[in-house]
Amino acid sequence: MSVAVVYNPTHVYHNMKGSPESPERISDIYKYLKSTMGAQLSFIEVREPVSMDEVLNVHTPQYLEFLERMSMRGPTYLGDSTYLNNYSYMAALIAAEASIVAADNVLDAEHDYSYALIRPPGHHASSDMYGGYCLLNNAAIVAKHVMERGLRKIAIIDWDAHAANGTMKIFYSSSEVLLISLHRDPSDFYPHEGFIHQIGRGSGTGFTVNIPMPKGAGDPEYKLVFDDIIDPIIRDFNPDFIIGENGFDAHSADANIGLKLSERGYVNILKKIKSYGKLFTMIQEGGYNKKNRYRDRKNTNFKFGRGLKKEKAEKIILPKDTVRGKYSQMQGKDFGFVDVE
Ligand SMILES: [Zn+2]
Repeated sequence: MSVAVVYNPTHVYHNMKGSPESPERISDIYKYLKSTMGAQLSFIEVREPVSMDEVLNVHTPQYLEFLERMSMRGPTYLGDSTYLNNYSYMAALIAAEASIVAADNVLDAEHDYSYALIRPPGHHASSDMYGGYCLLNNAAIVAKHVMERGLRKIAIIDWDAHAANGTMKIFYSSSEVLLISLHRDPSDFYPHEGFIHQIGRGSGTGFTVNIPMPKGAGDPEYKLVFDDIIDPIIRDFNPDFIIGENGFDAHSADANIGLKLSERGYVNILKKIKSYGKLFTMIQEGGYNKKNRYRDRKNTNFKFGRGLKKEKAEKIILPKDTVRGKYSQMQGKDFGFVDVE
């Protein structure tokens, strides 16, 4: 089995002091995978933004203009936990591109599976609204992309602790994209959507499946739900492609959430999806527990800040013919953009 890990290293510039949605969330996973499974995995770094055509398949031009304008004005919060700094819009465009690269990698049979290890996350973003740290809906952009490449039926399975309400809204009337979201019961929990009665609309009725999990649910409960609910739905729908929205916040270590998946529980979810025998890519969403932070065992003095400084010394490389131009012209802002000749 071969797996590609697609990473957007410049995500580190998208940050806000004090926010749990920090660069270390993803950088640490990347460092961990490289040091423990470096020989088994193929690592691909993406530094270019997605084409606007791909984004406009999902998001409205007005919303994209809003994000760009607010990003250039930042750093700022958008009214909830979602924040933007001067680099954030670009980071979101590159995260979307990395997600597409991951999907294409599987579609082109370069690897059996792929993992878009990216941020900012996407599953709370709808076509014209941010939310819960999410700016662009990466999974939705990928779903539209693989459909443009000729696939007809896409299944998105989301096991982040929070409901995939943005993804749900984007495909609520679609019978071509099946969304299954397992998440903590939203009655008293963000995003206060993703209820069992929300099943889709019009021809999309039945193609949204929300599975609220009670507080305290863990490996046995997730296994039960996959065996008794998700398996028959997936086999009946028979998707051409499966997109996983992976959140590590359903792990028991994310103590404020109240779900109890273990490492084994996460492995079981992936084994189950593998058993469907479909093309599969996984996109990173949430997961915030600081205690799970990776520490390099060979270097006990390892600190993220040190690594960040080193990464900052590198120049970000972006193609000339992108929105990058606008960013590099901003007064007094130096993101170290360099033109690619
Ligand atoms: Zn989450």
